[in-house]
Amino acid sequence: KLSKRLQYIMEQIPVGSTFADIGSDHAMLPVAAIKAGKALSAVAGEVNPGPRDAASKQVATAGLGDKISVRLGDGLDVISPGEVDVITIAGMGGGLISSILDQGIDKLQGVKKLVLQPNVGEELVRRWLLDKHWVLTSEHIMEEDRKVYEILTAVPENSGVVAFISDDVYKEYLLDSNNGPVKITKEIAVRMGPWLLQEKNSIFTTKWISEIDKLERILKSLATSTLQSAETKYEEIAQEILQIKEVLSCSP
Ligand code: SAM
Repeated sequence: KLSKRLQYIMEQIPVGSTFADIGSDHAMLPVAAIKAGKALSAVAGEVNPGPRDAASKQVATAGLGDKISVRLGDGLDVISPGEVDVITIAGMGGGLISSILDQGIDKLQGVKKLVLQPNVGEELVRRWLLDKHWVLTSEHIMEEDRKVYEILTAVPENSGVVAFISDDVYKEYLLDSNNGPVKITKEIAVRMGPWLLQEKNSIFTTKWISEIDKLERILKSLATSTLQSAETKYEEIAQEILQIKEVLSCSP
């Protein structure tokens, strides 16, 4: 059975798509997406032979060898430009996801949607999307087996969707905020997620309260450090904590 996380990712794939699942491991997502009638065909990309073999086996067992092409290769190397209209990359760090997108940027021509699920370093993915003119169209935070996952979807900036992460829209966001004028900088939005900030559900709040805990522990160790750089770092982190608290509305 598909995990809740992969199920949600699958739901983001528009019906009739051709998609590439990069780092597909057992090809669970492509198999489920074809079976559910979401995708017409898929590429399951894997850089490691072990998971690639597992993917091939899974695809053969499902009898979907004619619809899913399992390919061995690094990141987007496994697809040619214009071959797919959706790319999913899930279950890796945000740094790796952004470097896969960056190295394969020429393959993104014609891609209409990205569905990305970084395990950590979500801000690196948001930063990449912002820098490379992809519009973050939705963010979803969920919990499964006591782990928290964020699923980000994005479309190219020229697709007619108004960029959410732009200075103008941030200003609108500030005015729209129910909690009065919250000082939210672009850095905070990239770090925490503009849509998640707007929704501010309990999973999100719990995640950031625990992040504040971590930062406060770092702060404590910096306070006793004799390193020259510690003072600046202390100020930076103290400021960061303040900002996070402010947007969570839990400042004193
Ligand atoms: N996408 C699946 C999911 O979300 O359940 C599997 C996630 S698994 C933790 C990460 C997979 O990404 C591994 O099978 C690994 O071999 C693969 N991987 C790591 N770096 C990759 C790269 N540069 N290109 C393609 N696959 C990669």
